[in-house]
Amino acid sequence: MDKFYFLGECMVELRATEPSTMKQAFAGDVYNSAVYMKRSFPAIEAGMLTAIGKDGLSEKMLAEFKQEGLDCRFVFQHQEKSPGLYLIETDNTGERHFTYWRNDSAARKVMDFISPETTSLFTAGDSLFFSGISIAVLEESGRERLWKLLSELKTRGVKLIFDPNYRARLWSSPQQAASAFMRALELADIALPGVEDLTALFDIQTAEAAIAFCRPFNLAEVVIKNGPHSVVTSDNGQIEHHQITPVKEVVDTTSAGDAFNGVYLGARANGAPISDAVQLAARAAGTVIQHPGAIIPLEPFKSAMKSAGL
Ligand code: AMP
Repeated sequence: MDKFYFLGECMVELRATEPSTMKQAFAGDVYNSAVYMKRSFPAIEAGMLTAIGKDGLSEKMLAEFKQEGLDCRFVFQHQEKSPGLYLIETDNTGERHFTYWRNDSAARKVMDFISPETTSLFTAGDSLFFSGISIAVLEESGRERLWKLLSELKTRGVKLIFDPNYRARLWSSPQQAASAFMRALELADIALPGVEDLTALFDIQTAEAAIAFCRPFNLAEVVIKNGPHSVVTSDNGQIEHHQITPVKEVVDTTSAGDAFNGVYLGARANGAPISDAVQLAARAAGTVIQHPGAIIPLEPFKSAMKSAGL
């Protein structure tokens, strides 16, 4: 069976539920994708490739990874560092604001743990998913080692899957992000960018322009997400437009794209044609945005996926 590894950072999430009470959860783009893939396709092996600490919250995070059924063989525990943290605040107009404490997180150090032995545990047919955030949070030296790791894995026949997920504040300049994204796209086999991620860096305004932008790269599959408007895919150059049913009651769009990625990739690994995989993924994303937080409770998610035919 296919194995998917998700490289990146899972953080502690804090959200105020009452003026003096916070709800604590765990979330992070690639982690969210892993969770929604595994919940939808339990037979697929999905695991995290990350570093956490040895503190109490790290142990709770690790327990949650396991509870979600994720493979933890590549979850490394740093002696001194601890996980990054973010706070979600909602102002009196309902607008959400995020504050991050992640500059010194264990996940920034993940490349320190990757040895030739780690690399040798990947085999042809495995997939490694990484995002622009996965690259951005690494230390400078870690980024150089990441490029080497990706090239080595590619040579071993590991499929590389990339979502740019642009977060301006994680990069020292837009040029730095743009050049990292170009490098990632050169290595990737599958890309799943959102139109918005490409707008700021490459002045791309439409899904069609995003498809054209991706054409020069050697990507077998491209999936362009464009919010509620549409999804456009390219399968070895064959372009298809997919309709999305907009959700009327959007509560929180956090992790819509992440849920989409996890379920889309799971469905494809499970043999679904692209159009069916897009519809399932859109259903997952459309469900997630009707609930607060990145990781929604298991039950409403499972029942939505069941009614979508899973
Ligand atoms: P985005 O990252 O905004 O492009 O969203 C990712 C995916 O979430 C889209 O491809 C849609 O499948 C889904 N999505 C986002 N916003 C909505 C919405 N308002 N209604 C329904 N689906 C949505």
